[in-house]
Amino acid sequence: MMTESPLRLRITEIFFSLQGESTTVGCPTVFIRLTGCPLRCVYCDTSYAFSGGEWLSLDRIIDQVKQYPARYITVTGGEPLAQKACVELLSRLCNENYKVSIETSGALDISVVDSRVKRIMDLKTPASGECEKNLYQNIDVLGPHDEVKFVISNRDDYQWSKDTLEKYRLDERCEILFSPVHGDISATELADWIIEDGLAVRFQVQLHKYLWGDKPGH
Ligand code: SF4
Repeated sequence: MMTESPLRLRITEIFFSLQGESTTVGCPTVFIRLTGCPLRCVYCDTSYAFSGGEWLSLDRIIDQVKQYPARYITVTGGEPLAQKACVELLSRLCNENYKVSIETSGALDISVVDSRVKRIMDLKTPASGECEKNLYQNIDVLGPHDEVKFVISNRDDYQWSKDTLEKYRLDERCEILFSPVHGDISATELADWIIEDGLAVRFQVQLHKYLWGDKPGH
């Protein structure tokens, strides 16, 4: 008889939707949202994941995931890497042959993550209020299948993002995503700046916000 894994994670929600961001935007995806985050970005749209949640064993999490007809799994938060057992969950999902990604703030060490996982890592801009938490050593770990995301609130954030891109030659390392903060700057304004400067980045908007607004579970 198989024994249940003793490892558990505190989970805010598990749901099936369309990926709203990144290079797999639009793809049917199961999202596993882990509870808790050590950061407090001013524009955070998932503060409902800061506390609460339900403890679930890794086996139960995987059982729930398997109920959905998805090839893509995104582990998100909160900050998923703030819970140690997240690393084991990611590897187990890869073993099940899912295409697995993690969305992380960039404030914690990403080298612990299984190399089969696509790491979608934020570099926090000044207007987030959490810029000093960026762990720049993470950049050395990034490979071609990873993605770095800049969430941009204003022109100063854009300039900072552009300077950081150039300083670390990030576009030679992995995919770069530039995203406007919903409600702070217009998507068109950010798109125009990227075109004017000819930046080697991928512009994106949060598709799920256009489809479902801020409703949790999407
Ligand atoms: S890292 Fe993400 S979850 Fe945490 S406060 Fe910032 S935006 Fe919210």
